[in-house]
Amino acid sequence: MLRNHVVPERGFKDMLKPPLSERTERLRLSTIREVAGRVEAVQKKGIPVINFSAGRPDFDTPEHIKAAAKKALDDGLVHYTASAGTLELRQAICTRFQEDYHLNLDPEEIVITAGSTEAIYVGMQSILNSGDEVIVPQPMYVYYGGWSLLGEAELITFALQEKNDFLLKAEELKQHISPRTKALILTSPHNPTGQVFEKKEMVKIAQLAQERDFYIICDDIYNYLLYDGAEHFTVAEVPGMREKTLIIGSFSKTYAMDGWRIGYLIGPRQVISRVLKMHQYVVNCCNTFVQVGARVALTASQNCVREMVQEFDRRRRLLLSYLDDLGIPYVRPRGAFYVFPSIKKFGLSSKEFSDFLLTEARVAVVPGDAFGSSGEGYVRMAYCLSCEDIEKGMQNVSKALKKL
Ligand code: PLP
Repeated sequence: MLRNHVVPERGFKDMLKPPLSERTERLRLSTIREVAGRVEAVQKKGIPVINFSAGRPDFDTPEHIKAAAKKALDDGLVHYTASAGTLELRQAICTRFQEDYHLNLDPEEIVITAGSTEAIYVGMQSILNSGDEVIVPQPMYVYYGGWSLLGEAELITFALQEKNDFLLKAEELKQHISPRTKALILTSPHNPTGQVFEKKEMVKIAQLAQERDFYIICDDIYNYLLYDGAEHFTVAEVPGMREKTLIIGSFSKTYAMDGWRIGYLIGPRQVISRVLKMHQYVVNCCNTFVQVGARVALTASQNCVREMVQEFDRRRRLLLSYLDDLGIPYVRPRGAFYVFPSIKKFGLSSKEFSDFLLTEARVAVVPGDAFGSSGEGYVRMAYCLSCEDIEKGMQNVSKALKKL
């Protein structure tokens, strides 16, 4: 086709089209990563920082998992696998879900992804159309807004109430459902509040999904990190919900494998066929030796998980006892490894309070508004550090608060 041959004097460069994609222009970088950058900058000056901001296990990956991946490399497992992931790993996921949730899955309903990050992205790309709405209760994990934007959907948020212990209530959710609602994202155990949503509300929400025809994306990556007898419930267990549920899983937190970048998405077949296409375009398939390590993580004894959870629980209790002593209010967390204390009484914004702690106490926390506007007035503290560091850090906080 002949193009208009009249070349404007200013040249094409200055005309009409923005130089790079508008979508990525509108994406926000994670504030948590920003905090991590600031912590590093302080540490580089030789000033030690006690870091409550990093939301990842500080433990090493269990030895037997590392050994399996190393052996896979030595055995020459260095080529592509099937895009959906190895059958062995998908079967291991089926077995775990059968044992833990009595869910009868088929490997064809699973795609292995580069962490749950990729799983949520490709899952949302597979179901969303322009103009759809995605509901997410706030405070919320930092990337949900960006993933909705990339799917050309509108993000609808509403605040989880502290007076309800930050628990999601079906009645509140109901007010935000519209004919354009395509999906709800549920995160339980919850980041950043550490709450575990109640089964009775989840069942009601599942009924709403069926009546009003929307998907539930269960970001279940903290499902094994539970305390005080809390139980994780997946809406996929509700009769008829398998067709409406995308389960997002990850090895990052359960097995201290966040740097391995491996997770998975479980969904109904018609969604999985789209997910597989998206996944092929993004990564083609996940690392082969990493998939071997992940399979061993699932099939070997789960004692390593139990031990890690026990240690997190010890740290959780210690941190909460310090917050109690300092009179800083919080809703008692029952899952993941976060607590979301209210700092309203100090009269500073969450950003100001976080900056104050970094400067005056050499303690890093994440300002609550990183998780959406309803997180203002709170900070997120992750107990992914030793009891010794928790003690040191909280003693520093105690001294610093006297200056306020
Ligand atoms: N979803 C939630 C709620 C998270 O907190 C995180 C990480 O912190 C992720 C997803 C992404 O985890 P990954 O990609 O390592 O599986």
